[in-house]
Formats: sequence, structure tokens, C-alpha cells
Amino acid sequence: MPEGDTVWQAARRLHDALAGKVLTRSDFRVPRYATVDLAGRTVLEVAPRGKHLLTRVEGGLTVHSHLRMDGSWKVFAPGQRWSGGPAHQIRVVLATADRTAVGYRLPVLELLRTADEQRAVGHLGPDLLGPDWDPARALDNLRADPARPLGEALLDQRNLAGVGNVYKCELCFLLGVTPWLPVGELPADRAARLPALAHKLLEANRDRPVRRTTGLRGHDLFVYGRAPRPCLRCRTSVRVADQGDGSRERPTYWCPTCQPGPAPRPGGPSASRIRRRPGG
Ligand SMILES: [Zn+2]
Repeated sequence: MPEGDTVWQAARRLHDALAGKVLTRSDFRVPRYATVDLAGRTVLEVAPRGKHLLTRVEGGLTVHSHLRMDGSWKVFAPGQRWSGGPAHQIRVVLATADRTAVGYRLPVLELLRTADEQRAVGHLGPDLLGPDWDPARALDNLRADPARPLGEALLDQRNLAGVGNVYKCELCFLLGVTPWLPVGELPADRAARLPALAHKLLEANRDRPVRRTTGLRGHDLFVYGRAPRPCLRCRTSVRVADQGDGSRERPTYWCPTCQPGPAPRPGGPSASRIRRRPGG
């Protein structure tokens, strides 16, 4: 699952390759847009919005895409071998005289009028890497459903846009609570720190090839992907369990010592059932 920083980097790569240039060819390989031809139009800009990419083209059109789990955009020079996957996974090709952008496995690909972009991204909360970042509103959104587990609230892009599963786990570690803690039970001092901390992590990683949250030499992440290795702070074995609503469960990592709070029991019922407290 790409995080906001990954999408930001993809947007910048696309923007550098395409913006200000005239499209010499477009090839939408999805039935709905099979006859669309954007050739002759200038690409105005490529903007990230949360985990969405908006490629704005002259004439008031926007190519809206989302990478979801394993989509990607690759940029190639003329004559360079395309390397993003087999040809049948290509969803769209946008070419200028000197660069070709190829979208692979994009689960969301649509052509919108730029004036209608809000239809695609209007539901998103404040964007951690966007010009509209608003920490107070992000916190209000997160706390609007106090019974909801913190990890789920952080992944909900309607609350704030840009946090994926890696940052979800790392943020909960840095706040010293489990991802299953109901948002409403987050101590006030830590709730107050949360938006700024999330913003800091994404900003710090915006330009880095490798995501890093620790500031420790030789260790990029505190808990994500580290089970059952020892916690970098206390040496307790890091644990992992699924968290989600059943349809979108995510492997969720935490240190049971550094992060007190509700958590699935080892060998107990699926973590997804520990979503809400009775009556919550
Ligand atoms: Zn620990």
C-alpha cells in the first residue's frame, strides 16, 4: 500500500517528465476510454492529493489515478525498454517527444473534467503533504468517532490523507499506544502531538528513497515488518496481527511493552473483531 510520500514522489517524477510538454500520443487501455485521444494537448501539471494522482491536461481535463496496493507509474526515455510489468498490465500511456509515462496495474483510472476533480478527491481529509494541511481539522476528524480504533481512524483518508499502513504502525509506536486503542481514549497530550508527528514523518520522507522513522543508524522503522524481532527500545518481541474491517485487513505491528492498550491475544479471535468495544 503506497503511503502519501510514495505518491508524492510519483507525482513529482511525472510532473518533471510531462509538465509543460505537448502529448504526442495517449493510449488508454481500459474499455471505457479506448477512444480517448489526448495528443496535441499540453500537460499542465501533475498534483498529488492524498494517495491520488491528478494529471491535469490542457482543455480542462484531468487524468485521475490511484495506485492502491501495487499500481505504479514509470517514466521512460525514447528507446528505453519498458520495465514496469507485462504489457497486459498497462492501463495507460502518455507520451511526449522525449518522455513516455506508463501506468501499470492502476486500479483507479478515470478521465474527469478538471472542474469536477472534487468528485474524485473531495471526500479526502486534510492532505499531510498538501497546501491545505490543517492539523486542527485532521485531529477533529480523527476524534469524531471516539470508539474507533486509532489504527483504523489513521488509515481512513477522510480523516487525514496520506497515512498508509507503515506510518499507521510507526505513529502508534511513537505515541506509545496500540493501534487498537479507541481514539477517544488517546491521552490529551498525545492526541495534541499526533497531527504534527504524522506531518513530520511524511515531510521527512518525501524526498527519501527509503522510508525512515527512527533516526537510528541501521534501523529504518521501529516496528513495521519487524515481528518477531526485538523492539529497538525495550527488546520485547515485536508482534503482528491483522487489523481492519475484514475486507481490508492490514498486518499491524506493535511492541506490547512500549505500547500498552487493547490488542489481540496471541492465538485469540481475529484481530478484526477487536474493532469496537461493546456498545461502541
Ligand atoms: Zn518496546
